[in-house]
Amino acid sequence: MALVTVARPKDVDLAVPPLTPGQPSGLTLRQIADGYSQWVTKDWARACNVEYRAGPSGPSVSLIAEAGKIWTTGDPRWPVALMTKDGPVIKENPSEAEIKAARWAFSAGPWLVRSGKVADIAAEINRCGFSGLMEGTPRERAGIGIRQDGIIVHYAIMSATLHQVASKMLELGCHTAINLDGGGSVGVVDPSGKLLLGYASRQVCCALMFRRILDESPPQDSQPPQPQPKGGEKMIVCIDPGHGGPDPGAVNIVEGLREKDIALAVSLKLAKYLRRAGVTVVLTRDKDTDLAPGLKDDEELAARGAVSNRAKADYFVSIHVDSFGDPEANGSTVHHWPGSVKGKPLAESISRYLAIASGLASRGTKATGYAVLGYADAPAVLVELGFMSNKPDRWALREPSVQDKCALGIAFGILATRA
Ligand SMILES: [Zn+2]
Repeated sequence: MALVTVARPKDVDLAVPPLTPGQPSGLTLRQIADGYSQWVTKDWARACNVEYRAGPSGPSVSLIAEAGKIWTTGDPRWPVALMTKDGPVIKENPSEAEIKAARWAFSAGPWLVRSGKVADIAAEINRCGFSGLMEGTPRERAGIGIRQDGIIVHYAIMSATLHQVASKMLELGCHTAINLDGGGSVGVVDPSGKLLLGYASRQVCCALMFRRILDESPPQDSQPPQPQPKGGEKMIVCIDPGHGGPDPGAVNIVEGLREKDIALAVSLKLAKYLRRAGVTVVLTRDKDTDLAPGLKDDEELAARGAVSNRAKADYFVSIHVDSFGDPEANGSTVHHWPGSVKGKPLAESISRYLAIASGLASRGTKATGYAVLGYADAPAVLVELGFMSNKPDRWALREPSVQDKCALGIAFGILATRA
């Protein structure tokens, strides 16, 4: 099976999640594409893997740059694909200024087609120091090329040698083309998350996003089914924004910041992200109200758990902001019920993605017997986003953009557990 994707340069973006050099992204192709849907546009057609990593799900060893930011530098010998203001080019040794001026750039290789001819692939593998490409063995491959008219061509195939891919790129009209990461890294998904070709289980560091497709060849035969995440099963999540109504939670009176407001804002954004991913969401409150007026604190917490239990939720996620006497204490903590077999991995997943997406410090996870966690039948976690008592934390958490990133991270953390 093979898949050809052809698009105008203006319709091709590189989606790059926040990367820490030397660290894996923490995100799969689907999750990066989902982030693109949430941050940029839902109106796109295909997302593809491109870059090389140290190990299947390791940190990027390719150059990755987007909108003037160079996230990773990569091996200087490798050819670089750049989307310049004059159109796409693939070249060696672009200057830092060229990379920063480009809308996006990434390196891969080796060259497959140069100046309208199939490249000397063996020599290029040597020059660039690639290993493990198994160039003469039929396997999963992908390449990207540029036609004379500036149109971009992506080609992915489940079984071919590098030379066969190079010949195909030439046949597709490419004047210049390079190889992309192959094997289990070949993956093409559509906006519904459907895998069109290859695999999508690895963590990758960016995704090439095709917003519009010019033309395409239909799949030549059907791909045997691959083991897939259980994404089709409908997940139900109960989100519990902490406090509310007469109970403000932790406050900073001088700055007018209240835990209940931040918790609600993040919870509503989280609900939006999860619903977009097909999750059924129930909220214990969706406005600034007392959940159970007149009830004692403990009964109020029980009422929160009851919302989750009535909905037969798969997960209960309570959102809070911490507070402590020491103003230096900072960072997020994700609590789970002690001994909860499913609560612990959920907490770990949320903690990890929350830290990546928000950029805020993380204190990791903790087993804590919070009453509210005990009332929910579902695996339950309580997310402390940061500390109201810590100035950098609360100044970050009051920002809608940071609240959005927190929500995105928590959503990814939840969704990742169904993989
Ligand atoms: Zn609280």
